[in-house]
Amino acid sequence: MWQNVIGQQRVKRVIASAIESAKLPGAYLFSGPEGVGKDAAAIELAKVLNCTGQPPPSPRLEKAGEQLLGSCDECESCLAIQSMTSTAVHFVHALPKKESGGDDEVDLKDIDTIREQLAAKSADPYHNLDIPRATAIQIAQIRELRMALSRSFVGGRKRVVIVSEADMMNVQSQNAFLKTLEEPHANTLIILTSSNAHKLLPTIHSRCQDVRFDSLTAEEIAEALVEREELPREEAEFLSRLANGSYSGARAMIGEDVKEMRNQIVDFLRMGLSKSRLRAAQQVDLFLPRSGGGKFLERRQATEQRLALLALWLRDALALTTKADAQVVNLDQMDALKRFVDRFGDARRIVIALAAIDRAMHQVRLQLQLRPVMMRLVVELEEALVAA
Ligand SMILES: [Zn+2]
Repeated sequence: MWQNVIGQQRVKRVIASAIESAKLPGAYLFSGPEGVGKDAAAIELAKVLNCTGQPPPSPRLEKAGEQLLGSCDECESCLAIQSMTSTAVHFVHALPKKESGGDDEVDLKDIDTIREQLAAKSADPYHNLDIPRATAIQIAQIRELRMALSRSFVGGRKRVVIVSEADMMNVQSQNAFLKTLEEPHANTLIILTSSNAHKLLPTIHSRCQDVRFDSLTAEEIAEALVEREELPREEAEFLSRLANGSYSGARAMIGEDVKEMRNQIVDFLRMGLSKSRLRAAQQVDLFLPRSGGGKFLERRQATEQRLALLALWLRDALALTTKADAQVVNLDQMDALKRFVDRFGDARRIVIALAAIDRAMHQVRLQLQLRPVMMRLVVELEEALVAA
């Protein structure tokens, strides 16, 4: 049912109305931030289009006075698609570059990891595939897909091709894929998902109908964490405010010592405002997740989390300056917050500091180099909060 997809009511309505009026395009591009449910929606749509059961109307959407065509989650087709074994759905994703010769698509040693990762994705469509060295969707995969699509299709109502994180196609692969987009395929829907849609060729954009996904609200994320991960509400709400609208981002923080991270952030703020550039530079090193080892995506997400913690702290301080104590999230740090407000409690200055954090967050998302962004932020925070 569409409840498998968190939030995204606008997107659900757009798609449902295309289905109901039989106006599905040949290809969709699901674009938008990471971790908001683009793959989840693509898988769900494949289920809806192939469901042979009796779908009960979705209660969430009914509240809005609408009934949307859903999937039953129980019939053979729904179960096959969910477990990624359906012949109706082709799920294309980045694979590790082959190191050995031979005709197989991947090296033997990678097969188990890929299976494991696909099983995790099938159990939870919000799972980000984590396959070592899988940095690209290879041109061989695109050729393979084209062959598969040229064969006639049996075994479902509608063939659905999902290219997950389609921007992982390099230019060569994208050009090859363009041919597939240009060829008519009866009864086939192609869905590209991408958190970096600007990396796709304009010719690909022009052949897909773009459906832009929204960031999730903190409430939607908190609700989902309680329901799906059985987190205590208080923890769910704390994490949801750090997640920048990404459910996957929120979930990645479960079990991490977020409060310890928060304490480091507070130290960072204190040092950054100490007027000692050297200490500030050292603090940036502490602030940034360690380089090496971790993937850039992970470092970037970890940096976003830290920025969100920083913003949350300042927003709490701002609430205290206006005596809105009830809005404070870092309740366990009330004393430290009050001390902070005694020193830096000018509401106008805090607002300027928050804007600087917003800018830094934006730059991190644009994949700029993390260190210079953070160094600039330290200077801006100091100017905002302490400079005369
Ligand atoms: Zn079904």
